[in-house]
Amino acid sequence: MGTVTRTVAAIRDGLLPKLLSDEVRVKDAKRYTEENTVSGDHIRLKVPIVRDEKGLTGRECPACQSFFKVEFGTGIQEEDAPCHCPYCGHQGEPSDFFTPDQVEYLKSVLMKEVAKRIEPQMKRLERKPDPRALFDFGIEVKINTPPIHYYEEPDLETEVVCDNCTLHYAIYGVVGYCPDCGVHNTLQMVLENLGLAERMVGLAATQEPDLADTLVASALVTCVSTFDGFGRGLVSRHQARTDSPGKTSAPSFQNLARVQGRFSRKLGVDIANGVDPEHWTTAVRAFQKRHLYAHKEGVIDEKYIQETGDTSAVVGQKVRVVPDEITVVNEVLKKVATNIVTAMGTEQQQIG
Ligand SMILES: [Zn+2]
Ligand SMILES: [Zn+2]
Repeated sequence: MGTVTRTVAAIRDGLLPKLLSDEVRVKDAKRYTEENTVSGDHIRLKVPIVRDEKGLTGRECPACQSFFKVEFGTGIQEEDAPCHCPYCGHQGEPSDFFTPDQVEYLKSVLMKEVAKRIEPQMKRLERKPDPRALFDFGIEVKINTPPIHYYEEPDLETEVVCDNCTLHYAIYGVVGYCPDCGVHNTLQMVLENLGLAERMVGLAATQEPDLADTLVASALVTCVSTFDGFGRGLVSRHQARTDSPGKTSAPSFQNLARVQGRFSRKLGVDIANGVDPEHWTTAVRAFQKRHLYAHKEGVIDEKYIQETGDTSAVVGQKVRVVPDEITVVNEVLKKVATNIVTAMGTEQQQIG
């Protein structure tokens, strides 16, 4: 066995049986991906992990087994910074987040590499039987390795570039924790959607009156549903964390005055803190106008006048929203959403 070098012997006796018996763990695989060198008893390979056409690579949470993607090279550059699950907030080492397909792929590439290095050495042991000998034997070396495990990763619904750390990532749904810095993107999504509403109003200015009215009304609907989704999501994540028994669904955030009352009673905070009182009245009223659009075909009823104190409104007439109202609503909601996140504790602190 003198022709087999020490390195190859180490691979053969150490790594190969482990690979064959499935003993190589994910963490080992991660180590092998970092460098591509053979020295002493170690073999290190740089194995590129598959990226999709957007440069994103799949990850799987070891706690909830949910799938997401990140673009390596964006976000936090620190070596071995922890990874956060965008869905459940679980925090762990980056190497804990390999998907089963990636592990199989890494192992299959390793197997091929190892076999490639061992085979020539083992071949040297080959010999043909001596025809002149009375009894003799031949040695033939053949190493069969399984094929490379290729795979494809699914597309995800929402791509996000984290405001806080610049990581580019993709998730199912819309909101989640940033896999790098762990900050929840809920406020970021609120701002992006409100920006969309603002653009709709801008577009309305260039259209015929009918279409302009529809665009402004749609912008209002966008604002309210954005805020409602934000609020419900925040409350249900809070309920999940605190494990509140008996609470099944998060309350609606479609009535601004009621939301204010609820926060004042339960947490003793005013979500309108820092908002111009006149702007607050406009926003509360606009939310009630949205209610008329959604449930009364935009026709003013008694309840609307009671709730808003809108003295210009006449029961039975169509309600009207003007572009300036959307601008005010946007301004108010940005402030209110920030107040609410602060009141409930930043989501970053809830992780880990
Ligand atoms: Zn998770
Ligand atoms: Zn981040």
